[in-house]
Amino acid sequence: MTKNQLYSTAVERLNEERLLSLFLELAKINGPSTKEQPVADYLVNVLTELGFTFEFDEAHKNFNGEVGNLIAWREGTDSSIPPLFFSTHMDTVLPTEGLQPVIKDGVIYSDGTTILGADDRAALAAYLEAVRAIIESEVPHGPVELVLTVNEQPGLVGATYMDYSKAKSKVGYIFDSSGDVGQIILKGPFSSRIWMEVEGNAAHIALNAEEGNSAFLIAAEGLLNMNLGTIDKETLANIGIIEGGELTSIIPGSVTVAGEVRSFSKEKMEKQLKHMEEAMQKAAERKGGKVNVRIEKKYSGFDIPKDHILTKTVESAAHNINVKPFLTETLGGADTNVLNENGLTCLTLGNGFQNIHSFRECISVENLINTGRLTVGLIEQWYENHKQA
Ligand SMILES: [Zn+2]
Repeated sequence: MTKNQLYSTAVERLNEERLLSLFLELAKINGPSTKEQPVADYLVNVLTELGFTFEFDEAHKNFNGEVGNLIAWREGTDSSIPPLFFSTHMDTVLPTEGLQPVIKDGVIYSDGTTILGADDRAALAAYLEAVRAIIESEVPHGPVELVLTVNEQPGLVGATYMDYSKAKSKVGYIFDSSGDVGQIILKGPFSSRIWMEVEGNAAHIALNAEEGNSAFLIAAEGLLNMNLGTIDKETLANIGIIEGGELTSIIPGSVTVAGEVRSFSKEKMEKQLKHMEEAMQKAAERKGGKVNVRIEKKYSGFDIPKDHILTKTVESAAHNINVKPFLTETLGGADTNVLNENGLTCLTLGNGFQNIHSFRECISVENLINTGRLTVGLIEQWYENHKQA
C-alpha cells in the first residue's frame, strides 16, 4: 500500500517539515503564564493569514496578565455543519527564553537549560498546520474555532475568567495530555481545596507557658486521624500546606493547614472534605482549641459518554490516520474541566509530551506530526458525520 492510499488528501497534505519548524518557532517565543503577549502577537499574524477572525476577552484584567483569552473563528466551506473548536493554552509553565531545541533519535528536547514548552506549543502548532492543510487540500469542511487560553498553568485561571459569550461552538477537543496520540480522556475530576485555620493559644515557653496551647499539636492530632492519599478508586485527598509559627521560643497560637480533594464523584469529594473538617474539629475540641474551615472550589468534573459524537468522531479519525484510539480517564485537572462547566463540551486528547514542567521535557516528532494529522482527521470526520446525505 502506498502512503497516498493510507491517508485522506487533507491528512496527506499536512506538511511534516512545516509543522516541525512551526513548533520550534512557537516554542522559542517566550510566554510564561500572564506574559503571553508575544505568543498572542505571533498568532494574530498567522490566524489573519489563515483567514480567521478573532477577538480577545478581558480575562487578564482579573489577574494582571498582559493579554486575554483568544477566540478565533474561521468559516468552513459548508456553514450548515456545526462549528468545532480546538482549544489549548498559550502560556508555558516557565520561560522558554533562549531555548535551544535538540532533536535526538526522533525526539525533541531542549538543551537542558530551559523547558521545551511542548506543553502546549505542540498543540498550537498542530492546530495551525492542520488548518493550513485543510485549506490547501480544498476538502469540504465546517467552521473551525480556536479557543486559546492564557494563565492555564497556575490553575486554569484564564479559562475560569473567560468571556464564554465570545465562543460560537458548543463542542470541541483539547490536545493537552502526556498519552500518545490516540489517548482519549472522557472523564475528569471534581476538585476543591480545604483551608483549616487551627487556633490554640500563643505563649512564651519561659514567661507564661501555662497559658500556651500549641496549635501545632492540635493540627498534628487532627492530621493523624485524617484519611489521606487514595481514598478509593476515584477519590484522592492530600494536605499540601502547613503554615505557622513565629519564634522557636513561642508556643504557636495558630497554624494554617490546607489541602485538596479530587474525585470523579461530587458526593465522594464532599464526603471526604467533611471527614477532613471533622477530624480537625474533633482534635481541636479535645485539646481546647478552635478551627475555622473554608472550602474553595477548584473546578467541576466532566464525564463524556462513550457513545457521544465527540468520542465516536475521534475514534474514527484516529483509525483513519492509522493510530490506535484508547479511552481513559484522569484525576488531573485541565481547561477541559472549566470549559465543560461553562457549556463548551469537550474532551482531552493525548499529544504525547513527556516530563513536562521540567528541563527534561520532550516530545517525539511522531507524536507532534500525529497531533497535526489527527486534528486534520477530526475536521474531516466531523464534516463526514454531519453533512447532508
Ligand atoms: Zn498543558
